Amino acid sequence: MERSKINLLIVDDEEQFLESISKRLEVRDFNVVAVTRGEKALEAARRCPIDIAIVDLKMPGMDGETTLAALKQEHQWMEVVILTGHGSIDSAVECTKSGAYSYLQKPCELERLLEVLSEAYKKRVMNKLKIQQERMDEILKMAGVSSPLGILRRLRELEAAGQ
Ligand SMILES: [Mg+2]
Repeated sequence: MERSKINLLIVDDEEQFLESISKRLEVRDFNVVAVTRGEKALEAARRCPIDIAIVDLKMPGMDGETTLAALKQEHQWMEVVILTGHGSIDSAVECTKSGAYSYLQKPCELERLLEVLSEAYKKRVMNKLKIQQERMDEILKMAGVSSPLGILRRLRELEAAGQ
């Protein structure tokens, strides 16, 4: 996979949704690995260096909460965003406890999703490179970027230089 791009794993059993969200993110310069089941998500993440996963909750076979927990257990730096049509406060609390970075409800505006992806990626880079919040704010301010895609690009460079 091309390492200059951010590698996104998207798992959702609704194939049409999976295809449309994948296309919309690919044109915004993400490498997308799209799968329809939790089991396949785990396999894909073992094969490709995934940066962020977007995980549906209700799926046949392994559900989203189990997929989330397994991904977090196997991949120290991966951030996981839950994107579900069947949200509840209880499941949001459970997913956050299991290490989800964020919990979004469908339908979700693309701009909002991009914001959350850039925040999740920021957390990943801060954890991985041991950068404090204040220093990170400074780095992004110096780069003069404010759009989620601009921030993601700068973060990717930072990670590539530091890893
Ligand atoms: Mg589903």
